[in-house]
Amino acid sequence: MDKPAIAGGTPVRETKLYYGHQYIDEADVKAVAEVLVSEALTCGPKVPELERRLCALTGAKHAVMCSNGTAALHIAMMAAGIGEGDEVITSPITFAASANCVLYCGGKPVFADIKPDTYNIDPESVRAKITDRTRAVVAVDYSGQAAALDELLALCREKGILLIEDGAHSIGTKYKGKPVGSIADMTVFSFHPVKTVTGGEGGAVLTNNDALYEKLMLYRSHGIVKDAAFFEHESHGPWYHEQIDLGYNYRITDIQCALILSQLDKLEMFSARRREIVNKYNDAFSKIPELFVQQEIAESDTTRHLYILRINPEMLRIDRKGFFEAMAAENICCNVHYIPVYWHPYYEKLGYKKGLCPNAEKLYEEMMSLPLYYSMTDEDVDDVIRAVVKLVDYYKK
Ligand SMILES: *Cc1c(COP(=O)(O)O)cnc(C)c1O
Repeated sequence: MDKPAIAGGTPVRETKLYYGHQYIDEADVKAVAEVLVSEALTCGPKVPELERRLCALTGAKHAVMCSNGTAALHIAMMAAGIGEGDEVITSPITFAASANCVLYCGGKPVFADIKPDTYNIDPESVRAKITDRTRAVVAVDYSGQAAALDELLALCREKGILLIEDGAHSIGTKYKGKPVGSIADMTVFSFHPVKTVTGGEGGAVLTNNDALYEKLMLYRSHGIVKDAAFFEHESHGPWYHEQIDLGYNYRITDIQCALILSQLDKLEMFSARRREIVNKYNDAFSKIPELFVQQEIAESDTTRHLYILRINPEMLRIDRKGFFEAMAAENICCNVHYIPVYWHPYYEKLGYKKGLCPNAEKLYEEMMSLPLYYSMTDEDVDDVIRAVVKLVDYYKK
């Protein structure tokens, strides 16, 4: 039997393979360079051009570009009117920003459990957590698969609350044939370098709702308006503008928008390659009883952001930590997405207790994210599979 590197054997590869990486080509470099020598580095034409492009991509009526996905979530919460004492329901298996945005507004994040097979938020658990203080649901398209948007929208409509989709993982994904971005009341994208499409940093909020759009634009830029239609006082002259609310500077540069525009030209190519890698992983791992394969959601035509490897520790002599470390010794660097948000000390101090969402906690104990990105070679993918198979063979009971 092939010995794991951690037990003194030879690693499956000599160089380290990371779990995610951006792909930048000549066209990206050229697009950025063009903006650098143009008139406007920020507040220029690339921002609305990208907003129109995201609308065309998704079918959403409006898009508002922001400095990053977290800023986008924050202004989405502000536009939703979240304030002191308001409750917003989200998943614990997400990046902290999906819940932090509620805290920024003085609201209270409430965690609903995930489904044990798809790892997306469970609409039944959401229903059970709704109170008369619930104002919104932040549904995360975990790993890129669309959340149960129809069920969640029906529930939100029934209760008169808003559905905000955290689509940081899911640009390019379609739900029942419709692109994410056009379905929930607001959808948020992130353009961080590990995501499918990057601008270095960057975020967006998409909506079909004119009133929400006006608020998003206001909060993105200090709460200042330049259009006389919004003025509360008489204009003093052509320079006149008013601050009518408290907003932020969450603007994005034209430099970043040019990069994102150029990257979007490659979205289909990125998506197809990611799908190919996911299919290879699924084919290899579905034959191994010591592993669980994340259920593919039939309604979701997915551009996958993360590949989740889940082990059954009862059938192995090592746990997730052991498996993760053994993978690293094979030179396959994994990651874990995510530590349940309410386990973080900050949330613990706010009074959240372990045990709140059992499915999420069990998933956390058993999973890791395998390398998944456009520029992985077939050899890289084979190395990952060989490492997993080798470890399972060696450590199975
Ligand atoms: C990346 C991410 C965010 C935050 O996006 P940033 O652009 O990094 O601020 C929010 N939610 C989820 C699920 C993410 O993966």
